[in-house]
Amino acid sequence: MWDAKGPCGGTIGGGRTSHAKLRRAAEAGSVIVVSEQTAVELRSVSKTFGPVRALVGVSATFRPGRVSIVFGPNGSGKSTLLAVVGTLARPTSGTVSHGSLGRSRADVRKTLGWVGHDSLCYPDLSGRENIELVARLHGLDPAAAFTRARDRFGLEAFAERAVRTYSRGQRQRIALARALVHDPKMLLLDEPTAGLDTASTDRLVDAVNEEASAGRVVVVVTHDTAFADRIAGDRIELDRGRVVQATHAA
Ligand code: ADP
Ligand code: MG
Repeated sequence: MWDAKGPCGGTIGGGRTSHAKLRRAAEAGSVIVVSEQTAVELRSVSKTFGPVRALVGVSATFRPGRVSIVFGPNGSGKSTLLAVVGTLARPTSGTVSHGSLGRSRADVRKTLGWVGHDSLCYPDLSGRENIELVARLHGLDPAAAFTRARDRFGLEAFAERAVRTYSRGQRQRIALARALVHDPKMLLLDEPTAGLDTASTDRLVDAVNEEASAGRVVVVVTHDTAFADRIAGDRIELDRGRVVQATHAA
């Protein structure tokens, strides 16, 4: 559910005490609690960079099992919102709760898959080596991780070449494959269709829907309305750091 006031009309604050209160209220039958433990929840989040107000009083709930799409013009705060959700930026004020994804930033980051503006790949390593490296960092079998990624994202034509020789679309494909190596519980994608051709966009749509169906929290920042139209999910629109519209899928 997207609700600028939060799922309970803004009457219930973050933190352990209010969760206990909420649970007692639920047991008494006065409220209904839905996926309360696993949703990522922002309450009145603001983020300033010097004089720039990148986010202003943003409240939103990102639920597991559905895709949340974030729209808005350049500079409206989309990437900042993603960074706050992914614990890569601390809010200047307000609260962020990651529910069962983890209490500490380190715990949350372990469960995070991220595709940002930069691919975060090592340019001198091949696509295969980049994927194997991430697998090793997560204590996974590198060869098995690569085979799985190659088959899911069709990487065979370029996986053995250095990433610096890739087209933007190829880099995006490796970045997505790399972000999913460790089966993250939360997947954050910033403008993921940039540079993708039709077949790669189709794969991306499938991957995004599959990750949501598997119960992940999936947040996608995009300008691409044709792509967004192919994904059922919640929508949030930002303008100058504020939520101007929020809808949730039936
Ligand atoms: P979007 O992704 O919607 O284009 P951003 O979240 O990147 O927008 O940026 C929101 C606003 O915050 C912009 O005015 C941007 O210039 C500013 N901003 C973002 N990151 C920083 C930063 N690290 N330092 C200073 N200003 C920043
Ligand atoms: Mg951005």
